[in-house]
Amino acid sequence: MLAPGLPVVDEPYILVAPDLAPSIAATLDENLVLAIVTDGAGPTSHTGIIANAKGIPAVVAAIGATEMLAPGSIALVNGSSGIVISSPTDEEVESALKHAHVVRTFDGHGRTKDGRRVGVLANVGDTASAIEAASAGAEGVGLFRTEFCFLDRVAAPSIDEQVEQYGEVFAQFPGKKVVITTLDSGADKPLPFLTFDADENPALGVRGYRTAKRAPELLNAQLEAIAQAKYDHPTTDVWVMAPMISTVDEAEDFVAACAAHGLDTAGVMIEVPSAAFLSGHILASAHFASIGTNDLTQYAMAADRLMGQLAQFSDSWQPAVLSLIDLACKGGALQGRPIGVFGEAASNPALAIVLVGLGVSTLSMAPRAMADVAAALAAVEYKKCVEVARIALNARSAREARRSVREALPELAALGL
Ligand code: PEP
Ligand code: MG
Repeated sequence: MLAPGLPVVDEPYILVAPDLAPSIAATLDENLVLAIVTDGAGPTSHTGIIANAKGIPAVVAAIGATEMLAPGSIALVNGSSGIVISSPTDEEVESALKHAHVVRTFDGHGRTKDGRRVGVLANVGDTASAIEAASAGAEGVGLFRTEFCFLDRVAAPSIDEQVEQYGEVFAQFPGKKVVITTLDSGADKPLPFLTFDADENPALGVRGYRTAKRAPELLNAQLEAIAQAKYDHPTTDVWVMAPMISTVDEAEDFVAACAAHGLDTAGVMIEVPSAAFLSGHILASAHFASIGTNDLTQYAMAADRLMGQLAQFSDSWQPAVLSLIDLACKGGALQGRPIGVFGEAASNPALAIVLVGLGVSTLSMAPRAMADVAAALAAVEYKKCVEVARIALNARSAREARRSVREALPELAALGL
């Protein structure tokens, strides 16, 4: 069914709109919609995330796009670089077509040009996406969201039900790593049996790991289910992490709770600035950390990631956000613990290179993004990653960071990324 407001067209087109609700983005036919360009919506809004997962190039927060791109005109949209060219020249079209016809695949081994290993992993949310990730060559799963088990239900699922659902995902990755997250509800993912009361500021309220204080039995049941599913799939390397950790005490409590269930690789999601500042202390007990750049950006910039009006803040190229990632990595290096990234930033080829230069060792993303990110990494030596990370950290704005890093990476333009 066509969402209201979408044009009725039967030939492929670029969808240009002031803004686009995630519910509409979810209905788009990827064979018909060649690209999306919006004036509003942040890059980490769910519209951007959904488009990315469907493989539709999207440039959001392109202020003035609806005025510049007239109906019926021709445009080139590069979802990776965020560049939109209105009325391109013949040469620009020819060069874009050359790159558009390149079908990249991922060989299952992320590495820089000089051979430094960078894990290229997939974000999955259910069995179907796990199957897609495994067939796209994912080295494992860097973010297995478990909300699918809990959303749209009036009561929590039983332990047996959870064991079955988690087991189906673990089964897709024998001999590989799967990082499973405990329930991340609240704010934009409310649950009737857990986050029932209307907090005035839900994004700053009882969400993520904070719900475990309210309902410890839910966390315990989930850890038990993960432990049983892990037992059923002994060759899968199961790591567990908790969302929205903001203090050292929370991290220690979570690691202890995991240990009580025999889960010996327990980590934290760094999604709030306090966790980035404290990562050295947190990683004294937690075995690893992974950064959720969508929320970290939202909380660092104090900008609701769902508000199109605030799109220029919701940008992980913001140097303040990159500084927090830098701090988190320094804490990891201090304790000899690995740091990953699973937010949208990991799927942007240029930003992925910056993240590796900051010290991130695994990047987790929508399966469709893996081949491009792996190709970008394979085009640059590690010392170049460090060099561009410096450039980004020293920039005065997100725009300057993006522009100067891309200028320093002609390798990406040569790959059409
Ligand atoms: C994040 O916060 O970066 C993230 C990937 O999680 P979500 O978008 O589900 O909050
Ligand atoms: Mg998050």
